[in-house]
Amino acid sequence: MPTRIKKASNIGFCMGVRRAIDIITDVADKQGGVETLGALVHNQQVLKKLAEHGVSIVDNVSDIKGKTVVVSAHGVGPRVTEEIESRGLTAIDTTCPFVKRAQVAARKLADAGFYTVVFGDVDHPEVKGILGWADGKGMATLDARDLSKLEELPRKLGLLSQTTQIPKAFSRFVKDVIDIALVKDAEIRVIDTLCHDIRRRQADTLKMAKDSDIVFVIGGRNSANTKHLFELCSTVADTRLIETAAEIDPAWLKNKQKIGVTAGASTDDETIDDVMARLRDVTGE
Ligand code: SF4
Repeated sequence: MPTRIKKASNIGFCMGVRRAIDIITDVADKQGGVETLGALVHNQQVLKKLAEHGVSIVDNVSDIKGKTVVVSAHGVGPRVTEEIESRGLTAIDTTCPFVKRAQVAARKLADAGFYTVVFGDVDHPEVKGILGWADGKGMATLDARDLSKLEELPRKLGLLSQTTQIPKAFSRFVKDVIDIALVKDAEIRVIDTLCHDIRRRQADTLKMAKDSDIVFVIGGRNSANTKHLFELCSTVADTRLIETAAEIDPAWLKNKQKIGVTAGASTDDETIDDVMARLRDVTGE
């Protein structure tokens, strides 16, 4: 039986990453370089290409040397924006509209007296930014049991999700929180802040993975949405997370007829094309 290599239908840059890269490339080319607060995206190949346009990364506002700073697609909290303004810097904001929506939701919850719980990775810049909008009245976790560690369980709880989480995992989290918190006069508000692109990408990828013997997920190992694609595919097929074509070991393809390929939202077309070419090369397709 000949080998079949299939690419997921939703692959390559998402709207938010495409938009951020277009903005920053334009600014960097016009100004002869620009600094970004944190990495614009979690993908080394894309960051290398941006560096060729003179884009450099700083970790803190105090490290910025120029007069302009780019806020990444992951967004920042209001305190960081204030810090940028107080230094008299021009901020170019590439925060993704889906992330902005989660930030606005956190602010509204805080204004209405809710304690915000973000279902997400506490160390991820997007989650830190969203929590910043909760005005210090919130936490991030992937485990509802962490609520029990609070000194006192807040009566009003607002639940949001990091934009790139798996929808089913968020639903499970919400159910777990209800079990823990619906005890005494509780009020729980759930706001769906999952990214539409990621929802589609995950659904298409899972469908493809179910009909594959092996799936290659291309993307940064520190990219949240790439890791979630890997998790999803691993439930139904042999799955490999790779950053570049060079990582493909031909031994993985032994006795594999149906090969699936997908990629995180910050993986560029060139890297995807390289992987497709290498797979064709190794399989003789
Ligand atoms: S994955 Fe979604 S939330 Fe993240 S940058 Fe892309 S469109 Fe925005």
